[in-house]
Amino acid sequence: MRHFHQARTELLRQLQLPSPIQPLHLNWPGAKDVQLFVKRDDLIHPVISGNKWRKLSETLITLTTAPSAVVSFGGGFSNHLHALGYVCNQLNLPFTALVRGNYSQSVTPMIRDLHAWGGAIRYVSKVQYRERDTPAFIAQLQADYPGALIVPEGGSQQTALSGVRQIVTEQPNDFDIVICPVASGATLAGIASALSPGQRAIGIAVLKGQDYLESLVSNLFPNHAHRWHIEHGYTHGGYAKQPAELQTFCHEFSNHTGIAVEPVYSGKLLFAVKQMLNQGMFARGQRILLLHTGGLQGAR
Ligand SMILES: *Cc1c(COP(=O)(O)O)cnc(C)c1O
Repeated sequence: MRHFHQARTELLRQLQLPSPIQPLHLNWPGAKDVQLFVKRDDLIHPVISGNKWRKLSETLITLTTAPSAVVSFGGGFSNHLHALGYVCNQLNLPFTALVRGNYSQSVTPMIRDLHAWGGAIRYVSKVQYRERDTPAFIAQLQADYPGALIVPEGGSQQTALSGVRQIVTEQPNDFDIVICPVASGATLAGIASALSPGQRAIGIAVLKGQDYLESLVSNLFPNHAHRWHIEHGYTHGGYAKQPAELQTFCHEFSNHTGIAVEPVYSGKLLFAVKQMLNQGMFARGQRILLLHTGGLQGAR
């Protein structure tokens, strides 16, 4: 047990927290009328992708004893499985990833890393995977892995919110608007829960899901629904769709600012913000914080 606590202390020492905030000076139409900042959660850790640390932190920090195993879920490129797999490696916890689909013949860089870190992979059919949150499925997992900590897909659960809140609270909070990408909604829910009256959060949907994504957020955080909304017009055709226009945009942004972005999350967010600035959607002088959630491993 001493080893567990010591390993956790060492892991926490690897993190750059609070993550830095930088002003963004862009030549985009409308950008000079507002004050843009980017919060570099991509710099928290070289492996543990930004918002995935935020979502896992409360669960990991409050563990009083080492669980016998850790089990979680995700796709073949999942930033969440990647982050959790590394964490388990560092904490000497046996890790099993239930991966949606069968990549045994076309192992992804993410899965290769999990193997290297001693994780076990179980490929699950798409039909089975759909059952992942049902009581029967969870009960079976608990029987297969007695004493295991079972973490939902994306690390998105109620306990994730207090870690996510620190994105807003770990520095002086004088922003009018905070903008983040939305997939499972826990990041937006956590940010919205940390806002003060008068502040707003805007989520950029990275996948198609009008109403569905809103319900994910409000299930996690039912209060203050007027403080946030989701923009659905910037999915570029769906999750992980990367039209040439978006890829070019990401390269140009990275070259101009020196900040690496990928097309699945942060690229879509920045592309959306560029359009929204052009449409004059923000009031003059507003201080706008863009969250860089990391995720660069998934683009490999
Ligand atoms: C998982 C992920 C998101 C989505 O966050 P949710 O809390 O699931 O909405 C955004 N950006 C990156 C880089 C991610 O890996």
